[in-house]
Amino acid sequence: MNGGIDNLDILNFDAPKGYWERIRQRERELIADMKQLDPIFVSDSRLNYLTERIAEYKTRIDTANLEWDSDIKHKTPLMERLCKWYLADVDKWKRRLKKAVLEMVMRLRGEEWGNLSIEEIELARQADIRDFADSRNGMINCINPAHQDDKPSMSISRGFANCFACGWHGNVIDFVMTKYNIDFVKAVRMLNGK
Ligand SMILES: [Zn+2]
Repeated sequence: MNGGIDNLDILNFDAPKGYWERIRQRERELIADMKQLDPIFVSDSRLNYLTERIAEYKTRIDTANLEWDSDIKHKTPLMERLCKWYLADVDKWKRRLKKAVLEMVMRLRGEEWGNLSIEEIELARQADIRDFADSRNGMINCINPAHQDDKPSMSISRGFANCFACGWHGNVIDFVMTKYNIDFVKAVRMLNGK
């Protein structure tokens, strides 16, 4: 390896034979899988675009992990392995994947995609469900409108509310969406005090 880390390019690292073909094949398989889920939604160009991006990001993450494992197996020198891992920038692809998946879910639900950033969503998730519920001995009334809960059946643990009776389960964003009957974007903004 010469020229130092700045001159390295993930697209040009010395890939094993058939490496990029395998990546493209895996991407095609993922896209085909996702299109199977609902052939109607992918006719929308933005959803189609998201489907492809999600496949690409998943592939990049999987590939980096597979490379890492395979390099360990083949006793690739540590510095070379770390370089490859650094260049693959898995955290960046994970963030992009998360955002693309969120946008897709919201579009499929027919909700407004208000260009929320991942940081805003993460911040909203840190809110405490207890601030939006009256608890009695640690239990609260179920917020599922379909469940007439006369004695509290819902517990809160590790950032999730769970109903023992009807099975409703959700995080703080789901909770305020259901409780106040608002969409995802409004819930995130409300939780962030905007
Ligand atoms: Zn319930």
